[in-house]
Amino acid sequence: MSIFGNNIFGNKATHAVADPAADSHGTGGEDGRTAPAVQKSDAQWREELTPEEYRVLRQAGTERPYTGEYWDTHTAGVYQCRACGTELFTSNEKFDSHCGWPSFWAPLAEGTVRYIHDRTMGMDRVEVRCGACDSHLGHVFDGEGYGTPTDQRYCINSVSLRLVPKDGAEPADGATAG
Ligand SMILES: [Zn+2]
Repeated sequence: MSIFGNNIFGNKATHAVADPAADSHGTGGEDGRTAPAVQKSDAQWREELTPEEYRVLRQAGTERPYTGEYWDTHTAGVYQCRACGTELFTSNEKFDSHCGWPSFWAPLAEGTVRYIHDRTMGMDRVEVRCGACDSHLGHVFDGEGYGTPTDQRYCINSVSLRLVPKDGAEPADGATAG
C-alpha cells in the first residue's frame, strides 16, 4: 500500500506543467491528459489566484523556506487546497520537520493527491499535486529518518494550502496572517 511502489518511482512520468504561454481563451480539457475534476482555463486561474498563489500552484513554483503561513503552525484543523478547496491534509499528520515548509507524513486520504515523477532542476523527486484540480502542492520524500509512522515527508507550500481550524481551535498560533 506504500505509494512508493512501482507506480510512483518506477513510472516514467509525463511532466505536465501548465504552459505559461497558453494564456488565451480557455479551451480546457482538450489535451488528452486525465481530466481533473476541477478544470479552469489559465486565464481563470490567473484571475482567481494571487500572483504568488498562481506561481506556486499553477507553475509549480516554491515559496521561500520559513516564509510561508503554516510551516510552524500547530493549530488543529484541516488543510484545504488553496485553489479548489478540496481537503488534502490534516493537522493530525503534520509534524515538525524544521525544513521551512509545512510537512505531513501522509495525506488526508488516498486519492486526494496525485504524484508525478519530477526530474527537473537536476533532481529526482516526486511532485505532489491536488487530485481534484491538478495544482502543484509540493514534493514527497521517503526514508529520511524522521521517525513518523510512514517515514515520508510531504513537503508542501503554505501558499498551496488553506487551514480551516477545527471548532474551538486557536487560529494560526496567534500570527496575523497577511
Ligand atoms: Zn485543488
